[in-house]
Amino acid sequence: MAKTVPQTRYPHAAEAAYFRDIQRLVTELGKVTLQVFDEQIKPQIKLYGQDSHGYIMDGPLDVIQRAIEIIKGLSLGIFVSTEILNICTRFLNAVNAQSKANIQQQARIIGIDPTQSEPWLDEFMRSSINENVSYISTIRDEFFPKIEAIIYQGVKNGQSIKAIRDQLVERIGMTQNRAKFIAVDQTGSIFGQMTAKRHQEMGVEKFKWSTSHDDRVRQAHRVLDGRVFAYSDPPAEGLPGTPFRCRCVAIPVFDD
Ligand SMILES: [Zn+2]
Repeated sequence: MAKTVPQTRYPHAAEAAYFRDIQRLVTELGKVTLQVFDEQIKPQIKLYGQDSHGYIMDGPLDVIQRAIEIIKGLSLGIFVSTEILNICTRFLNAVNAQSKANIQQQARIIGIDPTQSEPWLDEFMRSSINENVSYISTIRDEFFPKIEAIIYQGVKNGQSIKAIRDQLVERIGMTQNRAKFIAVDQTGSIFGQMTAKRHQEMGVEKFKWSTSHDDRVRQAHRVLDGRVFAYSDPPAEGLPGTPFRCRCVAIPVFDD
């Protein structure tokens, strides 16, 4: 009689911890941005609007430029490379720990432990950590051209200070969404790749697609739920977890 195959469990805790870590950086970035805006940029925008001689004064714009440079400088103390590396290493270790425990449980059915020798793992961990370090660094890199555009265009177009500040707040919110995207996307993707690799290492050739069975599952994946595929011939969507923001998992199918 076939034994019940233990479920593949999506690493929700690792995803949540990773999101909290990136979110903390973005929150601090947002805080210093608004603080420098309120204390140093606002007064300059008022001056810029008070030109009584009928010509454009460059002085306030120079001060605004210097204030933006101050925010950039402060952001380097938030997006510290050793801290980003720690965050990503912690994340990869958490996903790996969950995957490993999961696979050991599943492999018990055929009486083996495929995680005892995994020559591929070091390189996989290293490249995944590097990739995530670059995603987090990009959050900061992409933030500054956006806020510079908001402030300069706002000032030149004569927008109110409140309108400019609202756009900054909105941009910080979008940056938080980006952090969320990275955490969800990377958790599914890395966990999916690890699962696939480990299943194949233990001789499993087929998997059953399993969604998270909640209302956020996309239609294209809902129809794959419960279907069995060969690792050598996956559906057009790819392997579970690897499409953008996918939280689906692969359950191993053992031949009798
Ligand atoms: Zn999915």
